[in-house]
Amino acid sequence: MRRGARNAIASTAVLAILIFAAIGSVSRSRAAEHHAPAPPKTVRLYVFDCGVIKGLDPAYFHLTKDQVQTTELAVPCYLIVDPKGTLMWDVGVIPDNAFKGDGKPVTQGISTATRTLKSQLAQIGYEPSDITYLAMSHYHSDHTANANEFAASTWLVRKVEWDAMFAPKPTGIIDPSTYSKLRNSKTVFIDKDEYDVFGDGKVIIKFAPGHTPGHQVLILKLAHTGTVILAGDLYHFPQERFTDKVPTFDYNKQESLASRAMIEAYIKKTGAQLWIEHDYIANSKLKKSPRYYD
Ligand SMILES: [Zn+2]
Repeated sequence: MRRGARNAIASTAVLAILIFAAIGSVSRSRAAEHHAPAPPKTVRLYVFDCGVIKGLDPAYFHLTKDQVQTTELAVPCYLIVDPKGTLMWDVGVIPDNAFKGDGKPVTQGISTATRTLKSQLAQIGYEPSDITYLAMSHYHSDHTANANEFAASTWLVRKVEWDAMFAPKPTGIIDPSTYSKLRNSKTVFIDKDEYDVFGDGKVIIKFAPGHTPGHQVLILKLAHTGTVILAGDLYHFPQERFTDKVPTFDYNKQESLASRAMIEAYIKKTGAQLWIEHDYIANSKLKKSPRYYD
């Protein structure tokens, strides 16, 4: 080999090593540089856009197309930032890893999402590794899509729900591949009606079974907004309220009715706002992240 060619190869190799070293130090310093935002003085609620479910027949909810303003269902995800830590509540219908990086929306079945959950977290300075707790209202696949991203968080779940999710053959509207990593997560089995997530009385997970065995709602006591209930799938449409009809696919209809009665009594007593997560019209009026409720 001529000396010129050898030198060229050698200098290319040196250049490659330098580039790799530079990339390595950039990614290391980026990782070292990341700090979650400083904790706020009062609890904040961020609402993310995790997609929309289109064309579901309202007959599943004993409603007709004439009775509902739209058949579309919103799919929000929520981040709660407490002075003592963070909680992700419901994590979408389309996994982030289904996005191709081309900026295009992703459709799976009757669901579409236009943004990843991770990009929306990043916009306000958070990474999944910053999230202290993960909780989902229930295991249906339109609430679990990104659960694996939060496997390093502490998972707050009812044992009956866990048992259904990790049954040998899980049944119903469920996609175990989206939450399989939670099996090894640090887990708190909530064994009481109300669970005070941060111990400050501001973020309470309340048992409201029926839709699934361990369905739960989230009660937030916000300094300016007041008390807000993120109702999971206690209802899908506001037209279901004050009826005796629950979704055709509920796990236990009597439990669903009892949970609704209990939550309606709570609302009457406290004046809390009920946020029906899938209510497309109500959701369209909410402030979305990076804006927040406090
Ligand atoms: Zn749902």
